[in-house]
Amino acid sequence: MEHDVLIVGAGPSGAITAKRLAEEGFRVLVLEQGDWPDYSKATVHREDFPLTAGRDWGWDPNLRQAPGDYPIDDTESDITALMWNGVGGGTVVYAAQWQRNMPSDFRVKTLDGIADDWPMTYEDLEPYYVRVERDFGISGLANDTAFPPGEGPPLPPVPLGPAGRRVAKAHNDLGWHWWPAPNAIATRDYGGLHACQQVGTCLQACAYGAKGTADLTHWPRALELGVELRTRARVRELIVRPDGLVGGARYIDADGNEQEARAGVTVLAANGVGTPRLLLLSGDSPDGLANSSGMVGKRLMMHPFGTVVGVFDEDFRAWQGPWGQFIHSLEFYETDESRGFVRGAKWGLQPTGGPFSMTSAYPWGAENEIWGEGFQDAVRGRLGHSTMWGIIAEDLPEESNRVVIDRVNRDADGVPGAKIEYRLSENSRRLVEFHQARAKESLLAAGARDVVVAPFIRSTGWHLLGTTVMGTDPATSVVDAQGRCHDVPNLYVFDGSVWPTSAGMNPTATIAALALRFAEQLIETRREQKVAA
Ligand SMILES: Cc1cc2nc3c(=O)[nH]c(=O)nc-3n(C[C@H](O)[C@H](O)[C@H](O)COP(=O)(O)OP(=O)(O)OC[C@H]3O[C@@H](n4cnc5c(N)ncnc54)[C@H](O)[C@@H]3O)c2cc1C
Ligand code: SF4
Repeated sequence: MEHDVLIVGAGPSGAITAKRLAEEGFRVLVLEQGDWPDYSKATVHREDFPLTAGRDWGWDPNLRQAPGDYPIDDTESDITALMWNGVGGGTVVYAAQWQRNMPSDFRVKTLDGIADDWPMTYEDLEPYYVRVERDFGISGLANDTAFPPGEGPPLPPVPLGPAGRRVAKAHNDLGWHWWPAPNAIATRDYGGLHACQQVGTCLQACAYGAKGTADLTHWPRALELGVELRTRARVRELIVRPDGLVGGARYIDADGNEQEARAGVTVLAANGVGTPRLLLLSGDSPDGLANSSGMVGKRLMMHPFGTVVGVFDEDFRAWQGPWGQFIHSLEFYETDESRGFVRGAKWGLQPTGGPFSMTSAYPWGAENEIWGEGFQDAVRGRLGHSTMWGIIAEDLPEESNRVVIDRVNRDADGVPGAKIEYRLSENSRRLVEFHQARAKESLLAAGARDVVVAPFIRSTGWHLLGTTVMGTDPATSVVDAQGRCHDVPNLYVFDGSVWPTSAGMNPTATIAALALRFAEQLIETRREQKVAA
């Protein structure tokens, strides 16, 4: 066998796993359906960038239709699933808001009597958070009062900026939590990253190499260590052997030819939609592979998102970045039953962008358009003078929210696409409404002359979690606490699909820490590991 481990997906979870295994001498092959990001298209200095960015750096695979994308039917979903299919995965276009989960996020069942506890604690994951923060060049400030004390990020925080200072002062007056926000944005030259230029296009692509994206932070070293990365290699199914082990994958290469990749162990790092899609397409059973629990694809969590924008007299120069977040607040993160819902949300204070963004659904909400009479004055009123709280709401795992196979819509290689069925629960609705109302209070206390609470924005499914749930009981979970499929002992899932609950945080910090921990557990147990010979 040429490779010890096959990894599907070259986003952060795949990249972290590949690099760490290669450091220990494993022969690793990674199959990635997309390409390397083409930063020559990150023409942020050009006036037409806000227009071309939608084409070149869009978030919705159904609109983008790049060669590495696959269709995702969202007609029965309240939220559109967003992703970047290529080397670096979602980090290429992410906002780089880098949030650890809170200790309570690992103990939701114990604390709130709902959903499930994680088979690990915050303390178990803490050393891995510290290490991935060094690897991704995270900026921030240690000892956030909302968290247990400990080592913080390696780089100083991004500047609070005039908006951050104003809102922070308001929170001091209100007695509400705030802290300089953690971001995967280099505030000075660091490793292979360059210092941030504050251009604020993080959500399209960083032209300056300042954003901690896996194509920059992990892939160069992984390739030096001998990892073989094949791009434009779309896995269509896993190879299941007569003994029940997985022997690798069948994939379609850039020329449209079917190929086989064989390896002793296979790791899926294809995200909360791509991983269940692949499991449901594999094996002889109509239920797919590794699915004796029936849970593959179920419990999809995407974090309902709220935006509340404050418009101020003061000119914040709010088109400048980072975007990213200046400060965050965890004031209302924990459950308070008197509010009529469980769990909570993290708020991140962000810029609102240039003239084009003043007219867009994100962050203002489609119903708050300003076209027509008074357009110029309205743009002038918002542009530079606004700042927004982005609210990441925890949604609870529900089996009816799920990923299924769509045999009608197929990708460019003829592989069936995915369909997501997802409805906002009553708990989520109440949670978002409560948080939006508090965020409005925050901005009014900071002196906003107007506050726009955006009606629900659909295109906000940045976080794809929960669809191969991790747990100790094979009857109710797909993978164990090592990320190993209960049903197939040489098949692993190392991406956000394994999350038992969603937390109310941007997830990449925890996805990264978990991937590193899983990789090291695989290394530790290598001698007992069953492999496909
Ligand atoms: C616009 C946007 C903004 C975001 N902002 C933030 C943020 O501020 N903070 C934060 O924490 N998170 C953010 N996220 C989420 C973040 O990008 C993801 O959490 C993270 O990238 C997940 O990492 P992953 O490696 O598990 O999956 P991904 O990054 O999605 O990578 C999976 C890879 O697998 C590949 N793949 C899938 N199926 C196959 C197949 N069949 N064959 C071959 N390859 C396959 C895909 O092409 C992809 O490259 C954002 C996401 C988006 C889209
Ligand atoms: S604000 Fe900084 S991190 Fe964001 S795109 Fe600009 S240079 Fe890159």
